[in-house]
Amino acid sequence: GTPTHEHISLAELWLASNYHPLPVVISHAEGAWVTDVEGRRYLDALAGYSALNFGHLHPALVGAARAQLDRLTLTSRAFHSDRLGPFCRDLATLAGKELVLPMNTGAEAVETAIKVARRWGYEVKGVPDGQARIVVMAGNFHGRTTTIISFSDDPVAHDHYGPYTPGFDTVPYGDLAALEAAITDDTVAVLLEPIQGEGGVILPPDGWLRGVRDLTRRRNVLMLADEIQSGLGRTGSTFACDIEGVVPDVYILGKALGGGIVPVSAIVADRDVLGVITPGSHGSTFGGNPLGAAVGHAVVDLLATGEYQQRARRLGSELAAGLEELVGHGVDAVRCRGLWAGIDIDPDLMTGREACHRLLEHGVLVKDTHGSTVRLAPPLVVGETEVEILLEALRAILR
Ligand code: PLP
Repeated sequence: GTPTHEHISLAELWLASNYHPLPVVISHAEGAWVTDVEGRRYLDALAGYSALNFGHLHPALVGAARAQLDRLTLTSRAFHSDRLGPFCRDLATLAGKELVLPMNTGAEAVETAIKVARRWGYEVKGVPDGQARIVVMAGNFHGRTTTIISFSDDPVAHDHYGPYTPGFDTVPYGDLAALEAAITDDTVAVLLEPIQGEGGVILPPDGWLRGVRDLTRRRNVLMLADEIQSGLGRTGSTFACDIEGVVPDVYILGKALGGGIVPVSAIVADRDVLGVITPGSHGSTFGGNPLGAAVGHAVVDLLATGEYQQRARRLGSELAAGLEELVGHGVDAVRCRGLWAGIDIDPDLMTGREACHRLLEHGVLVKDTHGSTVRLAPPLVVGETEVEILLEALRAILR
């Protein structure tokens, strides 16, 4: 077959350079393992930025997709399909909410939550038209659309894409007093990641999410939780908000909802919020399509058993214990929640990017974020063996 370097040359010749992939060309995968075009196997410890929480080619998910491909793939929302109602019923039930609005990508779901919050502000809260404000967090990552990057403080994501969408106020992540001070009569929502994924697996201070919940209730402001990366089992619970027993007004979901097979996203909320959406006021040609709904439904079925959340907790504590031992030995700090970890490599030793290159040589795929941080997010189907392989590879590159 074509060797690695030829695939990479082809990609470099024909693709816009919006990514800088590690030099590995994957052609097959199963569970937590991928195989490259040279036949080398790697442990996938990124899992498609958590889109592959259930691993590659999970039989229940591939089975649902295959069966659906033989039946019906797209209706548009001009008609009903026999797949969408059951999927939305079970997703809403999983989230303890009343209604679902299905979309495709994460960024679209975030945009949907922003639109719903603004409408709710005008039609329910009584904010003067055009004045709605949304409080967002420093260090956020919510996607790549023009509105979303308007309130990103990462210059690489933000710069030279203006004019920018107004109406957003930024406060430091985890700072309740600053959040309280930023809320005005025109504030309709607070948008946050319960754990900041792209930011480097940043955990907020204990009690912050509960504090945000109390504050937003008291001030009649919606709490929008972007659980696109943190949700659906990753942290050891169905939602990262569960860790503090917090129920936001709106869950924003994506990534793993499509089982790593098709893009499926959604927002999930009660009728008093999502009721502001009326026919024609929002939509998507592919949102809620039968193929996506079939896969998403199978994902919800996997989560309903609690098995994956439990695996993430059990194996996550093994991973955390192993990572803690590296602190002071080439690692400055680690932050872990479930099967999710941010590792700050000692910058005197190597960059995060260099660490990823070396881990690749040791048969482990991960991705750096923000300079010295390496993020680990192996699929929730890994076992103790894979956790040990991952830890041993880290020890090897730090030795
Ligand atoms: N929100 C969060 C928290 C994310 O981590 C991401 C993707 O990394 C997104 C939104 C955007 O999702 P998508 O790339 O599917 O648009």
